[in-house]
Amino acid sequence: MIVTILGSAAAGANAGSGCTGILVRSGMTTVLIDCGPGVVPELKRAIDVRALDAIVISHMHLDHILDLVTLRAAYRYAPVPFDGRIPLWLPPGGSEILDRLAVPLDVDHHSPLFFDQVYATAEYNPIDSLQIGELSIDFARTQHAMAAWAMRIGSRGSDAALGYSADTGPITTLATFLQGVDVLICEATLLHSDISPIDRGHLTAQEAGRLAQTCHARSLYLTHMWDELGQEQLRESAASAFSGSVEIGWPGLEISIP
Ligand SMILES: [Zn+2]
Ligand SMILES: [Zn+2]
Repeated sequence: MIVTILGSAAAGANAGSGCTGILVRSGMTTVLIDCGPGVVPELKRAIDVRALDAIVISHMHLDHILDLVTLRAAYRYAPVPFDGRIPLWLPPGGSEILDRLAVPLDVDHHSPLFFDQVYATAEYNPIDSLQIGELSIDFARTQHAMAAWAMRIGSRGSDAALGYSADTGPITTLATFLQGVDVLICEATLLHSDISPIDRGHLTAQEAGRLAQTCHARSLYLTHMWDELGQEQLRESAASAFSGSVEIGWPGLEISIP
């Protein structure tokens, strides 16, 4: 598996980094996980967007979906016509939210076809594994302001696994779900918090490190960060709780998982 970070900012986007987007490639299979604002330019830097086999969305907050609008235009109005539709896997209930998003954007009044022109939209069932070519994706519910799904991504013929926290507060079930992943891409939205863990929809960087330690990940890449908190402070805080390597998930960073 080759994993490319396409954006690692929390909701507000950072200087030089958009919001969450993770490109996962294995053999002939290419999948985009989340598509926040600022992801499309980095996606185009990494691949020909026509090569995408599918997009999978962790949850419907705008910092994880807004560039679906940009990507739609990239397909719809490309000077070289693009035939076909990209499978777009949404969380349960995601289709209705996307249909509502289309209404004010569709000045040609094709709603609800606005997104359907370029995406073959479906909702995954988080109880089941989602198979996309050589990749399989399992889901676990996180603790967040809306239903959000962490992912465990594997590749056919390999025991290697990629874990992605999506947006989450600290819950113990994630450590079980992500046990033994080689690489953990984990949100680190906060540096400190006075809010009780059970009332929180995000992790401190130190909690991200603790999660990586508890699930015995080999390496940890931080995402969903605010520039204002200082990315190096976030990295150091995560590293204080994790004995493996901790890196900032810069856009363009490529991670090889053998
Ligand atoms: Zn969110
Ligand atoms: Zn988010």
